[in-house]
Amino acid sequence: MTSAKKKPTPKKGVLDIAAYVPGKETAPGVERVYKLSSNETPLGPSPKAVQALADVSTHLETYPDGASHLLREAIAEVHGLNPANILCGNGSDELLGLLCQTYLSPGDEGIFTEHGFLVYKIQIIGAGAVPICVPETDCRADVDAILSAVTERTRIIFLANPNNPTGTYLPVEEVRRLHAGLPGNVLLVLDAAYSEYVRRNDYESGIELVSANENVVMTRTFSKVYGLAGLRIGWLYAPLAVVDAMNRIRGPFNVNAAAIAAGAAAIRDREHIDRAVAHNQTWIAKLTEGLEALGLKVTPSVGNFVLIHFGDEAGKTAADADAFLTCRGFVLRRVTAYGFPNALRMSVGSAEANEGVLAALKELLEKA
Ligand SMILES: *Cc1c(COP(=O)(O)O)cnc(C)c1O
Repeated sequence: MTSAKKKPTPKKGVLDIAAYVPGKETAPGVERVYKLSSNETPLGPSPKAVQALADVSTHLETYPDGASHLLREAIAEVHGLNPANILCGNGSDELLGLLCQTYLSPGDEGIFTEHGFLVYKIQIIGAGAVPICVPETDCRADVDAILSAVTERTRIIFLANPNNPTGTYLPVEEVRRLHAGLPGNVLLVLDAAYSEYVRRNDYESGIELVSANENVVMTRTFSKVYGLAGLRIGWLYAPLAVVDAMNRIRGPFNVNAAAIAAGAAAIRDREHIDRAVAHNQTWIAKLTEGLEALGLKVTPSVGNFVLIHFGDEAGKTAADADAFLTCRGFVLRRVTAYGFPNALRMSVGSAEANEGVLAALKELLEKA
């Protein structure tokens, strides 16, 4: 018997989640829009990936390979890994969620840091577990603070390295110190979405740490340097036991045929990636310098984006700057939800976009 008053109720926690808000795409009334809000590459994908995508379009009636063999083999070849330790997903977002579904039970705790990627908290709560947010120091993850937040209920720790939206990173020695302080039943997830961009001798994406341990996972994405955000492709490198467990609960065809083909072609085109990284290196330096010359504070970034702070000295708020830039077609990211109500995150764009933002901000700040 059904009562008219009864209705389906989401499980505990779901309605406490603040839904993820993606970067804006449009600037109303402006013809030429420069989207600098989601850390996409201004170079676009490899032409070889675009060709592979076109080739797939002639046989869409068949299911994709549920094990993504072609893609896993291409990743393994490029990174020198065993394909058996690789699991692909519909964006790394899917994999972050699957990790939570696989390892968190109600009442368990999942740790992330103060300015960490918002998807971690959403997925921890979605799995019925308790989100534990740990303070950072100077916009950087703090290993001691994370270790002191670990309890008997802790099952998973998410660390974006480098982190979005701060652009800061932990040197490999710090990541090792974090791992060394964890009980063996706590899974350390190193989200290396921006690792291709990092040019620091003391940085490692996490491959060695995964290879040497049973409780470390590294996630990567094709959405950033590879320019394939629209196809949704992520992968993780993990111990066999982790891959095995996740394979049991993932969707049987979680990666589509277009993603498998285009991803495999994209990762083999190293020249294209080198160009994207070189463009970024040039512009991350020029942008940081240019913004600081305007009197703005910029968090030093090793990624493909900068976090720009609008303090009292600037005389303008992040909201002022966002409105001013949007009117001129420059769409940046508000980062209030990340704990920065008075900052904007700007992805490194084309030379034209970057120069345009610098010129517009100069105009805005001179009006103050
Ligand atoms: C962009 C980003 C990702 C990638 O997500 P996809 O689902 O692969 O597009 C993962 N982690 C962080 C920190 C990011 O900024």
